[in-house]
Amino acid sequence: MATKRYPLFINGFATKTSETFKVRNPSTGKTVGLAPKATMAQLDAAVEAAGEAFKSWSQTSDKERADACHAIAASIEENAEEIARLLTREQGKPLNGLGSRFELGGASAWAHYTADLELPVEVLQDNNEGKVEMHRKPIGVVGSITPWNWPVMIAVWHIIPAIRAGNTVVIKPSPYTPLSTIRLVELMNNVLPDGVVNLVAGDDALGAAMSSHEGIGKIIFTGSCATGKKVMANAAETLKRLTLELGGNDAGIVLPDADPKQIAEGLFWGAFINGGQTCAALKRLYVHDDIYKDVCKHLTRFAKKMKMGDGLKETNVLGPIQNKMQYDKVRKLVKDAKKRGGKILMGGEPMNNGKGYYYPVTLVANVDHGVPLVDEEQFGPALPIIRYSDVDEVVARANDNPNGLGGSVWSRDLEAAKEIALKLECGTVWINKHGMIQPNAPFGGVKGSGIGVEFGKEGLEEYTNIQVVMS
Ligand code: NAD
Repeated sequence: MATKRYPLFINGFATKTSETFKVRNPSTGKTVGLAPKATMAQLDAAVEAAGEAFKSWSQTSDKERADACHAIAASIEENAEEIARLLTREQGKPLNGLGSRFELGGASAWAHYTADLELPVEVLQDNNEGKVEMHRKPIGVVGSITPWNWPVMIAVWHIIPAIRAGNTVVIKPSPYTPLSTIRLVELMNNVLPDGVVNLVAGDDALGAAMSSHEGIGKIIFTGSCATGKKVMANAAETLKRLTLELGGNDAGIVLPDADPKQIAEGLFWGAFINGGQTCAALKRLYVHDDIYKDVCKHLTRFAKKMKMGDGLKETNVLGPIQNKMQYDKVRKLVKDAKKRGGKILMGGEPMNNGKGYYYPVTLVANVDHGVPLVDEEQFGPALPIIRYSDVDEVVARANDNPNGLGGSVWSRDLEAAKEIALKLECGTVWINKHGMIQPNAPFGGVKGSGIGVEFGKEGLEEYTNIQVVMS
């Protein structure tokens, strides 16, 4: 069977490109499909189409836009299994566990929730001296740039609030995982007027060109800190609105009163959701001296039961690392941690099965700050477990990092945990869980983890400009 060739979407039309690039399955190395490689002229055409469509889309009624978002959510539901399979093949994550089916479920749930959000006019003053109203108006063309870890869900997080608020969109998915996003945008185009959502795919240069494009009014970017800074610099000349959802190095602090056996499952999935390739995964685990051994024991025991392998096989709940660059990075960090005295509780060596970027769940004890596996974002299935004895001091160590996306505290005493939670420098903090996001709670990073938030009313407002009317 010939390899399927995927199109761009410009002004409602599936658009061919003269060049394509192969998208490979990280489980097998086989080609999943041929992605379109857009030219700069095609990017310009997509931005122009979005600009044209904005003229009428921004004038549609609130109800019309909410209905369209619900219709997209329904269409995602109807096609969920097909997209989940494509996502598993290009991304590697399993169908089951917190994998592709979970991601598709999240995508439709977020779209439905966001459809029902509203941006009412606020009356700030209404008295003898006059009336002051605050309106929320769409910005124009929104450029969306997405990463390879949760490509479908993140595309929905970007696109749905943008169009709900009356903007139009040009999205550029990651070159590692563009195919499921192309299918998603095809479904959206079956619902929306031409040009409201456009898609270009290609290499990183396309993202850089979007960041400085004169026709784009706002960039919503999810990806690494290094690239986020480049986006911000490139966007400066045209003074674009920006939401940057960047990397994290989330700390989890286990207090001495926690029950090691009971928290093992939550710790495991907090750290190893999507094989650790999740922005707000638990990436540094701090455990009190009194229960250090027990937490290591129960976490290892739980982790050993989790099956890793080809995501299309229904029994697997963990897949490979998505690409070679990340695979090499995780290998290097673990090798280095070992050299610096880290004790491998499980994993620690690549799985030599000859194909795929498989790296086992790896738990590394007896490491501390100064070891790159602790200090840097590993973004893969390797968790450093750090010992501490003083609670105030561990809070300072947890905060001693340039990132500030999420954090967690684990304890039987919720009040004591909350007190510590409030001292953590991060956008979201969980108690006795980690990484659970939801569409009604604003999510975003502080410090080096980004600017702005997504989700909820506050997330929707980021796709608007304020206009004040005084009479
Ligand atoms: P990346 O920064 O390498 O790539 C992200 C996107 O940016 C891709 O589409 C890429 O093609 C594009 N890009 C590359 N160079 C560009 C440039 N100069 N200008 C504009 N765009 C450019 O990130 P990744 O490796 O795909 O994703 C992993 C990172 O994303 C991790 O650090 C992770 O923590 C972070 N992430 C953050 C969140 C969040 O919500 N905070 C969510 C998911 C992932």
